[in-house]
Amino acid sequence: MAQNGERVDILIIGGSLAGAAAAFPLARQGVRVRILEKARFPRPKICGEFLSPESFPVLARMGVLDSLRESGAETIERFEAYSPSGSSVKGELPAPVLSISRDVLDHTVLRAAEGAGAAVAFGETVMSFSGSLSRGFEVQTSKRLHHSRFLIGAWGRFSPLDPRIRNGSLEEIPALFGFKKHLEGESSFLQGRVLLHVFDRGYLGLSRIENGLVNLAALTVPDVAREAHHDFDRLLARLRSESAVLDRQLEKLRPLPGPVLVSEPVHLGPRGALAGDVLLAGDAAGVLDPYTGAGMSAALVTGEAAGARLARHLSGEIPRETLPGLWASEYDRVMKNRFLFSRLFRPVFVSRFAARLLHPLASPLAALAVRLTRVGPL
Ligand SMILES: Cc1cc2nc3c(=O)[nH]c(=O)nc-3n(C[C@H](O)[C@H](O)[C@H](O)COP(=O)(O)OP(=O)(O)OC[C@H]3O[C@@H](n4cnc5c(N)ncnc54)[C@H](O)[C@@H]3O)c2cc1C
Repeated sequence: MAQNGERVDILIIGGSLAGAAAAFPLARQGVRVRILEKARFPRPKICGEFLSPESFPVLARMGVLDSLRESGAETIERFEAYSPSGSSVKGELPAPVLSISRDVLDHTVLRAAEGAGAAVAFGETVMSFSGSLSRGFEVQTSKRLHHSRFLIGAWGRFSPLDPRIRNGSLEEIPALFGFKKHLEGESSFLQGRVLLHVFDRGYLGLSRIENGLVNLAALTVPDVAREAHHDFDRLLARLRSESAVLDRQLEKLRPLPGPVLVSEPVHLGPRGALAGDVLLAGDAAGVLDPYTGAGMSAALVTGEAAGARLARHLSGEIPRETLPGLWASEYDRVMKNRFLFSRLFRPVFVSRFAARLLHPLASPLAALAVRLTRVGPL
């Protein structure tokens, strides 16, 4: 028979970037926090692994920014986007970003939360939750029933816990799919730059991460993702045959052994920062287009902010009745325009005509897209 979990002040569903960043300010204040995480870290994750600088102050407060820089992360200052015909858009990023694997990043950030005093239950999948701020919350996992006064949802972009998945409203948004693979070989041509290749109904990014490895991550329509799943080598060969530039760049690189990771459906756009009285953060509250390279920063910034709002409530600064509404309006204030601009520039990256939009004259537009989708502090 499953044991009941000890009652804590705060339960957090999901121990990736948003969950760990939410736990940190609470645990440091001495609040009893437990993170419920279905996976075991370190683990790979589908992502471009391009970490934009809006998250650096959060990582610095968590005490991990320097160690991430020292772990061999690549510093990136330039972007280049190519169409299959070879026309390109190139530019400087508004500020340097870090390129680092999710295996290292997520594990480091979660360890910082643990170091601050948060308890982490790995291998516990949350099956359901119920409750409210006035009654407290019950969370049923694959192993036990947990109780808490507050609940934060940081379960990412696709979870049956998401009320919009349960009521079917996400199905109205066309789903895209991501895939990713690490490559090894001659990667010096990627020093300091991220490369984006737009192809028919999708795009892929190439950047160097720690140990000279290269991350190849893509977002595309279901047919192409299926092709990646069934025969990654064939898909890559097809994309290389369509783009001489990509062909040259991949010439001296080869996939590491192991399967290609293909994501669950990716529904882009805002979802809302609340599920009843549960504060949501990161992708659980809304998914920015991956081309912005701002999803991880949004997760860290909104995660930390959700934790900090709860900490302020616990120290008597914010009354319970106003907490959910305050969180929803603060989240909206910071993220609304990011979603708007991320949506606005989407056709440049995912459409049948995307490749034609990539023209050297579009460089200032691309630079503007990068700037407008940055996430400000919350
Ligand atoms: C193809 C692609 C490329 C991308 N590239 C970039 C990029 O280059 N830069 C960037 O900034 N962003 C990128 N993103 C977006 C980025 O990956 C996300 O925005 C970020 O991971 C969100 O973090 P999160 O903590 O909110 O959620 P996640 O990182 O998804 O974490 C959710 C966590 O919750 C856990 N979980 C889920 N359900 C349960 C449950 N029921 N019980 C317990 N635990 C649960 C999961 O195991 C996971 O660890 C990309 C996305 C895609 C699809």
